Amino acid sequence: MSDVRNVIIIGSGPAGYTAALYTARASLKPLVFEGSVTAGGALMNTTEVENFPGFRDGIMGPDLMDNMRAQAERFGAELVPDDVTAVDLTGEIKTVTDSAGNEHRAKAVIVSTGSQHRKLHLPSEDALSGRGVSWCATCDGFFFKDQDIAVIGGGDTAMEEATFLSRFAKSVTVVHRRDTLRASKAMQERAFADPKIKFVWDSEVAEIHGDNKLSGLTLRNVMTGETSELPVTGLFIAIGHDPRVELFKGQLELDNDGYLKVDSPSTRTNLTGVFAAGDVVDHTYRQAITAAGTGCSAALDAERYLAARS
Ligand code: FAD
Repeated sequence: MSDVRNVIIIGSGPAGYTAALYTARASLKPLVFEGSVTAGGALMNTTEVENFPGFRDGIMGPDLMDNMRAQAERFGAELVPDDVTAVDLTGEIKTVTDSAGNEHRAKAVIVSTGSQHRKLHLPSEDALSGRGVSWCATCDGFFFKDQDIAVIGGGDTAMEEATFLSRFAKSVTVVHRRDTLRASKAMQERAFADPKIKFVWDSEVAEIHGDNKLSGLTLRNVMTGETSELPVTGLFIAIGHDPRVELFKGQLELDNDGYLKVDSPSTRTNLTGVFAAGDVVDHTYRQAITAAGTGCSAALDAERYLAARS
């Protein structure tokens, strides 16, 4: 079976590239499917990353990912900017199909396909991403010191973001489509008790304003249809994430929130020889460093799995 590789990695964010670096340094010659649209993952769409250790003055997201890619390549990772369109992970030898229909076989597979934040699907939302519009308070909150900020959503994440942001912001306005929150009682109480946080109920964002930088929002009351203006320079969209698991449904077990289930603290999935890392598993931390950390764990788990079989 000379055409059977040791390991195939699906996904090229911090998790995939870190797994590639470690498996390449272990002489496993990994084949990495990077994806055709966003090779490099979520950080390709952001500006400055200030919280990835090792970069005292911060680093631009695409530069960080280019560095990770080059580091993996330097040790012999084979990187392909293509999508995986089908997988059969059930047998001893796994099959991964690319967009041209070619089949690639491997003894181990690492899944690191990330997750997609839900969008409002409004004009300017993408253009102003990193220019006032954000999906991650932990990542970007610091840039909004003493500013007026809006948080969209009514779940735990929205309350957590609002409470976190109130440490930096002048004011935080939570905009929610309904008149009650979905968030846990404890999270709600914390947000209600915070003097910097106010709520706009039964409302959604109708328009996002700003040329090169966010300048405000038009809100629409979903009960009355009335509109109002909210002048803010920060907009945090916290209406959920969708892990990219479509390819694996029916083969890999999912948890109650639809993320890939692993035998934590390992990265083992329910199928032997298949490991998962990064935001496709993690609905708690969702950071570049935690994705890179679990990518490292997945590589070491795969390495040990292969060593035990040789
Ligand atoms: P991702 O980075 O999402 O990468 C997944 C990869 O898998 C993508 O390249 C995708 O193309 C590929 N893929 C998916 N499906 C397939 C397929 N079928 N075939 C082949 N490839 C596939 N975190 C921080 O720590 N600091 C920050 O400052 C920060 N800023 C952020 C700013 C923005 C705008 C966003 C969106 C996120 C930010 N984050 C930040 C979060 C961080 O980017 C993520 O936690 C991290 O990228 C997750 O890494 P990952 O490897 O799990 O997945």
